[in-house]
Amino acid sequence: MQRYSIFSLARHALNDHAGWKPAWRHPDPKPNYDVIVIGGGGHGLATAYYLAKEHGITNVAVLEKGWLGGGNTGRNTTNVRSNYILEKNQRFYEFSLKLWESLSQELNYNVMFSQRGVLITAHFDPQTQALLRRGNGMRVIGSDAVFLNPDQVRRKVPVLDFSPTARFPITGAFLQPRAGVARHDAVAWGFARAADACGVDIIQNCEVIGIRVEGGRAVGVRTTRGDIGTGKIGIAVAGHTSRLAAMADLRLPIESHLLQAMVTEPIKPMLHVSLSFGAGHFYTSQTDKGELVMGGDLDGYNSYAQRGNLPMIEHVAAAAVTVMPCIGRLRIMRHWAGIMDMTMDGSPIIGKTPVENLYINGGWCYGGFKATPGSGWVFAHTIAHDRPHALNEPFSLERFASGYTIDERGVGPYPALH
Ligand SMILES: Cc1cc2nc3c(=O)[nH]c(=O)nc-3n(C[C@H](O)[C@H](O)[C@H](O)COP(=O)(O)OP(=O)(O)OC[C@H]3O[C@@H](n4cnc5c(N)ncnc54)[C@H](O)[C@@H]3O)c2cc1C
Repeated sequence: MQRYSIFSLARHALNDHAGWKPAWRHPDPKPNYDVIVIGGGGHGLATAYYLAKEHGITNVAVLEKGWLGGGNTGRNTTNVRSNYILEKNQRFYEFSLKLWESLSQELNYNVMFSQRGVLITAHFDPQTQALLRRGNGMRVIGSDAVFLNPDQVRRKVPVLDFSPTARFPITGAFLQPRAGVARHDAVAWGFARAADACGVDIIQNCEVIGIRVEGGRAVGVRTTRGDIGTGKIGIAVAGHTSRLAAMADLRLPIESHLLQAMVTEPIKPMLHVSLSFGAGHFYTSQTDKGELVMGGDLDGYNSYAQRGNLPMIEHVAAAAVTVMPCIGRLRIMRHWAGIMDMTMDGSPIIGKTPVENLYINGGWCYGGFKATPGSGWVFAHTIAHDRPHALNEPFSLERFASGYTIDERGVGPYPALH
């Protein structure tokens, strides 16, 4: 792999940058692999990278039906945080956050991880209590969390509505300083380049249309580019998990919903944290180009459409101007949607399935981008050893039968509410 550095940049500059090699190869599929990972998003690519790097399994293919990162990895609002309330979530997402902190160096690729802090505004006493409890839990496991008083919030985010007539007066805020945002495409590209350098075949425009199961064990896949045999299969397809599982006759506790996001026209730097509005469903951060990236709630009905719509723009914009009236005249430039595989407890499934040698990484709901390195790491461990790592053991498919669900929001089996 050609290393990226200030020296290689200077060397190539002397040659008008004509000598750069492609970041990864475009091989044809081989007839057999030790492991096939289905899905070329961040999770699939990270899994392939850690299989090669941590476990020495390099005869691996990542099969992607479209282009790398064209699924939710390239559609998300890129919040990376570990500010969960349940300990199993805290430990897993904190592990992932630690991997984020050295990911650019690990991959020799700038994923532009910006630890600008994720801040949730507080508006009511019970909410403040809940946020304090969450922060204390995080600190117990060694993570970072601080609670800001209104003056501190005003200094950190002066564009919020602190007027006496504010509809939701701000009584404080919960901040995780080490949290932040990253460049979504770069995460897919960085893992792809590093996995390719370890010998992994990354095969785009190769849709899996069937999973071959013989005697209760997965032995291969049928694809639009022919049949491929394999020892093990890892599914990491985000919004299509139940469709892939159905190819192996598995029915999952998942509903697929849409989540939309949008960006405004670019403006001068005005927001230096990633902000979540505590009294409604609205979150935003400012990109390096100056656009405000904004997201809100699920559409509320099942769909695979991957398209935005006007009612959700109105819903998000209403919450946005409630807490930041100064952006009321900004224009929305683009909006889009991704398919969210919502589980019955709002937490992901990372583990084995009843079919031998078939593993699932899915059901990420709103929050899988932040998990990308951690999820790839534990999924690779699970595939390599045929058993979960302690960090993903609680996220088994089996929990829905045993009742040990991980219900972060405490709303029960109602996917749309998670
Ligand atoms: C609008 C929006 C905002 C979000 N905001 C955040 C956020 O701020 N923070 C956060 O942590 N998370 C966020 N998420 C969630 C996050 O984007 C996802 O959980 C995460 O990116 C999932 O990554 P992945 O690699 O599993 O999936 P993907 O990136 O979707 O990759 C799966 C890949 O599988 C491919 N595939 C599907 N079927 C097949 C097949 N049959 N054969 C071959 N390939 C197939 C798809 O083409 C796709 O490229 C958001 C999501 C959306 C939509």
